Amino acid sequence: MNALNETHDPDVRSWVPSAQAPGCDFPLQNLPFAVFRRRGSGQAWRGGVAIGDQVLDLAALAQAQLIQTADPLAAQALAAAAQDTLNDFMALGPAHWSALRRALWRLLREGSAEQPALQQRGLVPQAQAEYRVPARVGDYTDFYTSVHHATHIGRLFRPDNPLLPNYKWVPIGYHGRASSLVVSGTNFKRPRGQLMPPGAAQPTVGPSKRLDFELELGVYIGPGNALGEPIRIDQAEAHVFGLCVLNDWSARDIQGWEYQPLGPFLSKNFATSVSPWVVTLEALAPFRLPFTRPAEDPQPLPYLDSAQHRLRGALDIQLEVLLQTPTMRQAGQAPARIAQSNYRHAYWTLAQMVTHHAMGGCNLQAGDLLGTGTLSGPKPEEAGALIELTRGGQQPLTLPSGEQRTFLEDGDAVVLQAWCESPGLARIGFGICEGQVLPATPAA
Ligand code: CA
Repeated sequence: MNALNETHDPDVRSWVPSAQAPGCDFPLQNLPFAVFRRRGSGQAWRGGVAIGDQVLDLAALAQAQLIQTADPLAAQALAAAAQDTLNDFMALGPAHWSALRRALWRLLREGSAEQPALQQRGLVPQAQAEYRVPARVGDYTDFYTSVHHATHIGRLFRPDNPLLPNYKWVPIGYHGRASSLVVSGTNFKRPRGQLMPPGAAQPTVGPSKRLDFELELGVYIGPGNALGEPIRIDQAEAHVFGLCVLNDWSARDIQGWEYQPLGPFLSKNFATSVSPWVVTLEALAPFRLPFTRPAEDPQPLPYLDSAQHRLRGALDIQLEVLLQTPTMRQAGQAPARIAQSNYRHAYWTLAQMVTHHAMGGCNLQAGDLLGTGTLSGPKPEEAGALIELTRGGQQPLTLPSGEQRTFLEDGDAVVLQAWCESPGLARIGFGICEGQVLPATPAA
């Protein structure tokens, strides 16, 4: 786990003025990575780092050879991070990530001798940038780490027995679909599928009527493990590059019919959105929390437990869901907040997900993506999905426009946000993960 160092010092400012703006997601202490280009330019994709409202162009930086002689580790990391996908950079591991972070911090801090050169050809305004999924994701696995979400959903399906007995022992997950991962801002069609109306004798086929979002964080794997070699819990975070915001769009009616006995399939594989920016674990180091387990619950099995993990295994990341209907958009009304939560409520941590995933010998690879599962908190208004917020569609939400929603309608946009904030520390933001529902393809 990362120690605090000069790059976390909240008092150091950047020469990019917007990095100091109140509420800015991307101060000097963050330095998250993305893959970007100038919007509509057809330019080559390349790695970038967010600073204030700008993107530092890593390909331009690599060309300028500003950090080559100073630090060979940082120069090697820069060459990898400047590519059109971050897989090679993710594969390098914590020593390289840390060296590049420190080098970038020095270039971007106030008083840097490189300011004039970078100002001239190193920055692209975020308002003029477009992004893509920052890694070639070979495999995507979605977990189910919120006990509150699992209990609330379970209660809708099984009122007497909401939480299945394995939940408090096994970090539950399923192998998802990587091909339909899309970057924030990509709109997607409402899926069609098999639906089993209540009381009907046979299913119908049509557009989902119970389309939902899921508020999650995504976890990009760094260096992988060899096939057959598990990952010990105290090594797990050395295999984690960083985190993004993730929306696991879900069709609840398709899910309800198809999920037994092998779990979600078409209800989840039509689109999963990720934020463009990946926040490194090192940037999140000031926001570590102890991992705790209620005394009345089973304690984690030894392979999922350690003293170090108990000390700092969890993370304090605030989460928020906003919704904007077409009517609100036309009236110029901003998206309205419909839920707030925090990653601290998760029952299973990052390290536990990684260690459990690999325990049987499954090989994780650089650029693989893990979803945390819907990060609902204990209170009703902390639910990370409409199915929970509306009690299975029984209690509609009323929006500031006066409109009501149980599930998503065509044209609705969902915006997920995540950030870390604490007195005396720089705010570490993730940017947004946004997507809009388009009408389903008409029946053939
Ligand atoms: Ca999910």
